[in-house]
Amino acid sequence: MASLHKNRRTTLERIEKFVSRIYFTDVNLYGRIYPHQENVDIFHWALPQDQHWKSISFDEIIKQTFLPQKIGDCFGPTWATHYFKIVVKIPESWSGKEIHLRWNSNSEALLFNSLGEPLQGFTGSPDHQKREEFIISKSWEKKGPEELVYFIEMACNSMFGAGKGGMIDAPDPDRKYSLEMANVAVCDTCAYHLLIDLELLFDMAKELTEADGKGDSRGYQALYAGNQIINAIQADDWKNSFREAQRVSNEFFKYRNGERAHIIDAMGHCHIDTAWLWTYDETIRKCARSWSSVIALMKDYPEMTFVCSQAQQFSWVKQYYPSLFEEMKHFISLGRFIPVGGTWVEMDGNIPSGESFIRQFLYGQRFFLKEFGIRSQEFWLPDTFGYSAQTPQILKHVGISRFLTQKLSWSLVNKFPHHNFLWEGIDGSTVIVHFPPGDSYEANCKVSEALKTERNLLDKGRVTRSVMLYGFGDGGGGPHKPMLDRMERLKDVDGVPKFENSTPNKFFENLEAESSQLCRWVGELYLELHNGTYTSQADMKKYNRSCEYKLRDAELLLAIAFTLERIPLADLVDLRTNVEEGWRLLLVNQFHDVLPGSSIELAHTEAKEWFRKSLQLAAEVVDRCISYLQGTSIASYSLLNTLPWSRNALIYENEKPLKAISVKPMSWDDDELGDISPVVMEQGGGIHKISNKWFSVEIDSSGRISSMIHHASGNQVVPTKEFGNQLVLFDDIPLYWDAWDCMDYHIETRNAVNRPSCTEEEVHVELATPLKVTLKWSQPVGQKSRVHQKIHITAVHSFIEFETRVEWAENRKFLKVEFPVEVHANQASFDTQFGFLNRPNHKNTSWDSAKFEVCGHKWADLSEPAWGVSVLNDSKYGWSVHGRTITMSLLRSPKAPDANCDMHEHFFRYALMPHNGLKSRSEVIRESYNFNCELISTKVSKDTSTSGSWFTVNSSSVILETIKPCEPVLGDDKTPVKRILVRLFESCGDRTHARIETSLPFVNYMECNGLEEPIGPLLPFVVSTKGQKFFTASFTPFQIKSFLLSF
Ligand SMILES: [Zn+2]
Repeated sequence: MASLHKNRRTTLERIEKFVSRIYFTDVNLYGRIYPHQENVDIFHWALPQDQHWKSISFDEIIKQTFLPQKIGDCFGPTWATHYFKIVVKIPESWSGKEIHLRWNSNSEALLFNSLGEPLQGFTGSPDHQKREEFIISKSWEKKGPEELVYFIEMACNSMFGAGKGGMIDAPDPDRKYSLEMANVAVCDTCAYHLLIDLELLFDMAKELTEADGKGDSRGYQALYAGNQIINAIQADDWKNSFREAQRVSNEFFKYRNGERAHIIDAMGHCHIDTAWLWTYDETIRKCARSWSSVIALMKDYPEMTFVCSQAQQFSWVKQYYPSLFEEMKHFISLGRFIPVGGTWVEMDGNIPSGESFIRQFLYGQRFFLKEFGIRSQEFWLPDTFGYSAQTPQILKHVGISRFLTQKLSWSLVNKFPHHNFLWEGIDGSTVIVHFPPGDSYEANCKVSEALKTERNLLDKGRVTRSVMLYGFGDGGGGPHKPMLDRMERLKDVDGVPKFENSTPNKFFENLEAESSQLCRWVGELYLELHNGTYTSQADMKKYNRSCEYKLRDAELLLAIAFTLERIPLADLVDLRTNVEEGWRLLLVNQFHDVLPGSSIELAHTEAKEWFRKSLQLAAEVVDRCISYLQGTSIASYSLLNTLPWSRNALIYENEKPLKAISVKPMSWDDDELGDISPVVMEQGGGIHKISNKWFSVEIDSSGRISSMIHHASGNQVVPTKEFGNQLVLFDDIPLYWDAWDCMDYHIETRNAVNRPSCTEEEVHVELATPLKVTLKWSQPVGQKSRVHQKIHITAVHSFIEFETRVEWAENRKFLKVEFPVEVHANQASFDTQFGFLNRPNHKNTSWDSAKFEVCGHKWADLSEPAWGVSVLNDSKYGWSVHGRTITMSLLRSPKAPDANCDMHEHFFRYALMPHNGLKSRSEVIRESYNFNCELISTKVSKDTSTSGSWFTVNSSSVILETIKPCEPVLGDDKTPVKRILVRLFESCGDRTHARIETSLPFVNYMECNGLEEPIGPLLPFVVSTKGQKFFTASFTPFQIKSFLLSF
């Protein structure tokens, strides 16, 4: 035993240096791990830069001419691919030893055997996620050819892309990667395991002791044991001295925990961002590198478990790496490689629509069921920037009642008060939630992490277990051998929580059993960070909204044509495949760095192509279905309404409005509107005064609203001396995460934009007719940008519309539009998935104050009981309502990770709609749908079988959101099931009964869940005395209901 006065610091640092991979490696333990090394022969062939890795097969690769290369050679440029043939000769004298192939190309790489089967990934950088060794044999026995041959695919990017400068900077296109190491070596497993022990002792000593002699006695035991081990080891008598070192170590680690010690449910994990600082195509290879490494480890560690999300990534591996997929299937069948989350990708948690959320699960779970016979039991979204308050009900609707994340640990201001809780959504649905208290999804199974997990846990005394997700992540990687060896040693050691190899099911079953002690959290899980992602990369948002509505139209028309038996079977199967493909492209683009706008330019360019493809598929389906639904007699021009309520519209000729019509619900039948109040305009003193049936508005020469009287209430919308449609520009310089964050202080830099510099820039009249008036103006904004706007007021719409074009070229500026409104309320409402969310419009508490920028979808509203004002939009998601000002975020200009983010022309529309307050909520919601879901211009002939309303709903608050052919039986895509899926939800927070009427030949119906599985009895449609066919359904506030309709 060492002296009583032994110095803690020098002893700790002595141990630290003895295991260091940087210092004293010629005399320390780390330096003993590879006592014998031999070079390998390296031959190289570069994939031509105009060729993609997907375009060449392994058989073709190995036929290429590989030329000799040596250590120190450099390869590039960024994103290029290089192939290496490695010839390994193992000396006879290494017989019986553990032999490793070691490779570090300062990049990512994938090792293949000579058959082209992926064996394992290599990672050269960054340092903290290195993986340099592949175990050729645990006990080498020469029994084959003289030489072993491997192939290595080198990807010219590091684990976190190729940022020029910092990690999130835009990629350096010309980076070179040097081959730092390529050899074969004997691994001294005794030295390696002692190194693991010493690292654990060092960590325990550091964590459990304090400088003044205070702390835990186990910490001092660890400190002295570590010191004693180093004393025991003698360089000239390694074998014997090692036995003594091992004895000291075993003596320390044999002491067990108490029976009620906290238990860590450890699960291997590998967070692979589906695109981020790299493209989707690179992610495909990241999956192969990561998961082949996992499989290699699983073969050596029989208790190891691994949880893995995102069906899209599984699907890619199935397509590009079939041998790896087969191995994964084997371990999945053993319950060790565990598909989790049930979604197609780990999507953004705020912006996707309710239907998009459901589709993430529909396609994700169906993939897992079809390929593996597995249904994920939990929602898995550890790294997403906030979670909508409608999530619990959506989860329940797809059969999930558990949720795991950790991202709220990133909140800047308020610490979320639980790690385990019951989460209640806007409709009252509840799911059980766990945040791993280690605040990480990429742990290393270190003592410090285990202790943090227990110490940080906020629900102490209420729960007995916590999850630890270990494995390199974000850019893939997954578990590394030392993590498993640390965990093995720490399973049950006095002083550190117990470790168990676990599964989500095991953890949540236990948590559910302990749930009576848990607290409840109501409403959204708002991340107090990354709230610039509601606005960055405006095209992602615009395409997302557009795809959601166009795909809705496409599958609705497909369902109608199918039900009316207007479509040949083969075409039906093709078109259904097209719609599904369109959805999948959209779902992938909803990934939590793509839709939020936080990826590199290459990834966003790829995403735009996928969005356009999705829109093209939807448009083709719409066109084809309309052609099937059209009658055969002479066709006339019509507008098709795909929404379940009547809509007013203007018919144009030569761009001038000709007449006003009302199109019937879900129909192309219309009536001309007879008794129309015309739009009237007066001009004078630089002001344009315009009135329609609903309001009288005054527009100043800058395009701002100086007054707006709502006729029904007589109320003024705009407070005195303030202006609606006020564009404002802010400085927008975050602390680090450029595309992600707008900080609270940006609000202090407000600059109003109202500076027409000449009369040409002022408001002009473009169109003045009784049916519509259009004003237009154009002004510079910021240093290099310009806004062009048309303001439309029609005789058929209760809102004023702002059609906007922005040439945007700013640096770290944030453009918004403000609508101060004469409304007194303490909360504002924001459209969200299948409902809306109320949030305070004041800053009473730090929680209110931290929500200075929030997410909302098609509308935001400030209302009194009988008076209110809403703002609608066609593609925006960032909002703030402070006091009586509704502000909508329009454009940002971050420079990382995409240096050109949003630097181009943008088109978007928004509108201002005064109304009769809370009692008009359903009107606002309907107008927001109308504003986003265009009437489809088409030529049709009146045909009795396709005319009339296909569906109507008699409740103003129940929205018929989705009509689609139901999914085929798993594994049989060719045989359509004669059923249509109909999804409705209550949109206003009311309790209501709805009658869903149809003119289509349905016979019976049954309620189902979001995965289209029946949950209710088969019931016949009712036929009224007037011959109307209908069924009824009751709804609680914000309730989502799905039905299968048979014909
Ligand atoms: Zn992520």
